[in-house]
Amino acid sequence: MKLERTKSEEIYSEALEHIVGGVNSPSRAYKAVGGGAPTVMERAEGAYFWDVDGNRYIDYLAAYGPIITGHAHPHITEAIKHAAETGVLYGTPTRHEVKFAKMLKDAIHSLDKVRFTNSGTESVMSTIRVARAYTGRTKVLKFAGCYHGHSDLVLVAAGSGPATLGTPDSAGVPKSIAEEVITIPFNDSDAYREAMDRWGDELACILVEPIVGNFGIVEPNEGFLPLVHELAKKHGALTIYDEVITAFRFHYGGAQDLLGLTPDLTALGKIIGGGLPIGAYGGRKEIMDEVAPLGPAYQAGTMAGNPASMLSGIACLEVLREPGVYEELDRLGEILEKGLLSSAEKHGMDITINRLKGALTVFFTKEKIENYKQAENSDGEQFARFFRLMLERGVNLAPSKYEAWFLTTAHTEEDIRKTIEAADASFAEMARG
Ligand code: PMP
Repeated sequence: MKLERTKSEEIYSEALEHIVGGVNSPSRAYKAVGGGAPTVMERAEGAYFWDVDGNRYIDYLAAYGPIITGHAHPHITEAIKHAAETGVLYGTPTRHEVKFAKMLKDAIHSLDKVRFTNSGTESVMSTIRVARAYTGRTKVLKFAGCYHGHSDLVLVAAGSGPATLGTPDSAGVPKSIAEEVITIPFNDSDAYREAMDRWGDELACILVEPIVGNFGIVEPNEGFLPLVHELAKKHGALTIYDEVITAFRFHYGGAQDLLGLTPDLTALGKIIGGGLPIGAYGGRKEIMDEVAPLGPAYQAGTMAGNPASMLSGIACLEVLREPGVYEELDRLGEILEKGLLSSAEKHGMDITINRLKGALTVFFTKEKIENYKQAENSDGEQFARFFRLMLERGVNLAPSKYEAWFLTTAHTEEDIRKTIEAADASFAEMARG
């Protein structure tokens, strides 16, 4: 079986002449899966993608997380059409911003006040600035392999795209900035205690993905996040949850509501825009009141809170708050996980699956994955082969061993069955050598 990819290849070679690396975000390149032209998509609807050569794929990329109701969901499409007809950008306050801020506050318990931005990167960057303004301190503690966007401070030993490309420290990030950041392994309570003994009183904040999405789906071990909170409080540092992936992914609300923990500040993005560009951050009133125009911490945005993203985001949350949505994602996730595991076992393939509800990561290793180092040690070449074989069989995964497979409300049991069949044939081919 050979996939017809002529048009993808043509467009990509033209893209290489005009766009840096042919892509507008490095993780879209197929560098980590053997190189060559990434699949150029033409259209998406529900759980499916069609590429420029006319091939159809079941999509598990979900645009790296934002797409949870499937592509072109009618309710969201209607909202975006309304926005297009009534003007997409005003540069003034609107009713939609207020409605949406209230919806987020009702769903995520730690938010007293929010501010909208345009991306996850901006949201995280802003939470750090506010934490520094509030505490009067400069240092930040974060966890290896957690990705928090591409602002200077968080590109120090970061994961996701940078990890995949093998350049954890980006060129162009000044050493003086890197020196403000302490990075320790996720789920390592001893390393955390040590770091807090050493730097706790200098820290403005501890920044964490409460459930990791960027070196695969990795849940915090029992007691780890409560310890993070306890020592942060003791030393007067703020806790910031980066919920850019996790908010509304596992249930209607943040991971913090699922875990029963209360961060001081939270960064949001991805799902809350229903597919349009968005970010938001928020937290305790007295901390958020540091932000301009009320306080001295400056943060702004021409596009922030634009009517199109607001209306799309509201429509997305309206779909997600219907009863049974997350139960169904969990049910399909479980069928997929079991099917992949039993097929891998049948063919003697060593895999480990980390899954929470409708998100999972398949690691090519038998080892348990609780931190970045372990994810890094999983077999990238086997993943690359699996990725290609799945693509040929009409299943679109993220082109990196560190990313998650995301289910959407548009995936059906039939899609899952076909995916397991494709995996079974792929594992069989891999087992033959
Ligand atoms: N935080 C997390 C946890 C993310 O996964 C990402 C993006 N993958 C970001 C922040 C940055 O978001 P954006 O790409 O919208 O800037």
